[in-house]
Amino acid sequence: MAIKNYIGGELVEPVSRAYLDNVDPSTGQVYSQAPDSDHRDVEHAVAAAERAFPSWSRTPADERCRLMLRVADALERDLDRFALAECIDNGKPLKLAATLDIPRAVKNLRFFATAVTHFHSESHVTDGVALNYTLRQPRGVAGIISPWNLPLYLFTWKIAPALATGNTVVAKPSELTPMTAYMLSELCRTILPPGVLNVVHGLGAKTGAAITAHPRVPTISFTGGTVTGTEVARTTAPLFKKVGLEMGGKNPNVVFADADFDAAIDGTLRSSFANQGQVCLCGSRIFVERPILDRFLTAFVDRARKLKVGDPLESSTDQGALVSRSHVEKVGRYVELAGQEGGTIRCGGRRPDAVSPRCRDGFFFEPTVITDLPVDCRVNREEIFGPVVSVTPFESEDQVIDFANSTDYGLSASVWTQNLSRAHRVAERIQSGTIWINCWLVRDLRVPFGGMKNSGVGREGGLEALRFYTEPKNVCIHVAGS
Ligand code: NAD
Repeated sequence: MAIKNYIGGELVEPVSRAYLDNVDPSTGQVYSQAPDSDHRDVEHAVAAAERAFPSWSRTPADERCRLMLRVADALERDLDRFALAECIDNGKPLKLAATLDIPRAVKNLRFFATAVTHFHSESHVTDGVALNYTLRQPRGVAGIISPWNLPLYLFTWKIAPALATGNTVVAKPSELTPMTAYMLSELCRTILPPGVLNVVHGLGAKTGAAITAHPRVPTISFTGGTVTGTEVARTTAPLFKKVGLEMGGKNPNVVFADADFDAAIDGTLRSSFANQGQVCLCGSRIFVERPILDRFLTAFVDRARKLKVGDPLESSTDQGALVSRSHVEKVGRYVELAGQEGGTIRCGGRRPDAVSPRCRDGFFFEPTVITDLPVDCRVNREEIFGPVVSVTPFESEDQVIDFANSTDYGLSASVWTQNLSRAHRVAERIQSGTIWINCWLVRDLRVPFGGMKNSGVGREGGLEALRFYTEPKNVCIHVAGS
């Protein structure tokens, strides 16, 4: 089956007629093809988006909202089909795609479709002289680049605010997980005016780079790795684009001795291994206060061992496949490195022997817990993005704050304590864009979302996203005779 680009309202082949193999990570087999698009396809998509912009940007917000809600409804009606497709394309458990990825994609569309109907701007009265008010106008064609770990979830998280605010879009999903963005474009074809949303599939360095470098795409929203983000920043800076970068994380999970023990174990297990540890917000560095270290480790390792690595289609599976052969190999190399850096593997650390006959050649890796690593070693500083976590004891609040802040990343953190004053103190001092107290991945779409340090530039979510995709323009009216 061949995926197509979605340009100017039509599903079209890439100009080159060249395709990339699309692999099912649970079997390791090629199961479809995606366009290997180049700058010519991007040029067509930008031209279509430019043609659609004057009309879409002048379409009343109510009407844009209505159309986007229709897309959300169509996606919700098709939830099972999309969840199955996401599971096959990414390797994640079907039950996760059906309860997290696709419902959240529906919610993203609904949230921003309706948010724009409540969006308002500021006015400033200059005493006795003038009245200023701020117009927030769509910026034109938005270039959107998304990763593979939460494919449709993050794709819609970015296209929804761009479209709702009246921009037109040229989007490129990850070449590793193109399927659900393609299926969404099939749905949009019957609902959105041609050219409002364009989806161009292909490789990052070719298709993605053609979008970021395009002189008539003034807004770029990127989610992906920090190395790629650096490249996006380098390309876009001299073109003076407005750029949002959501990048990698190496997030701390801080467990104080006074925490609700069972809640901390449950939450930390989920934040370690959800989606096979392939969530930018996963807490891969676990710091445990010394008095409860042994108890924590025993319970945590026991629970990690019980997670069932299995066929993503099976409802009993907790851990599906990692996204690609090269990724599972990279995770394996980090576990080897942990051994060289003095680590002790408490569980996992390898690819399981036989998940099932169907999944014999899939990209599986066992949930892995490592102890005895120095805080500043590479395994504790670099993003692995797989089911691999380290557990390190700490002695004091000051020490664990230093540990938490000891990487170049600053995306999120979880803190487990029943002492509210301590929770506030620690939250204030950890350098991350999101701090969860006694929870993980509780997401309210209104809150600012993004990273500090090498994890990101700018914020998404709620008003932040609506502001990002609009240009504030101040209008100053002289008040005569005052
Ligand atoms: P990636 O950086 O390899 O790719 C992300 C996207 O960028 C893909 O669509 C890719 O094709 C494209 N791309 C690659 N090179 C490009 C270039 N030169 N120019 C333009 N586009 C290019 O990331 P990935 O492996 O797909 O995703 C995993 C990474 O994403 C992890 O580091 C993870 O932490 C991060 N992530 C961050 C967030 C967040 O919100 N901060 C969310 C999810 C994932």
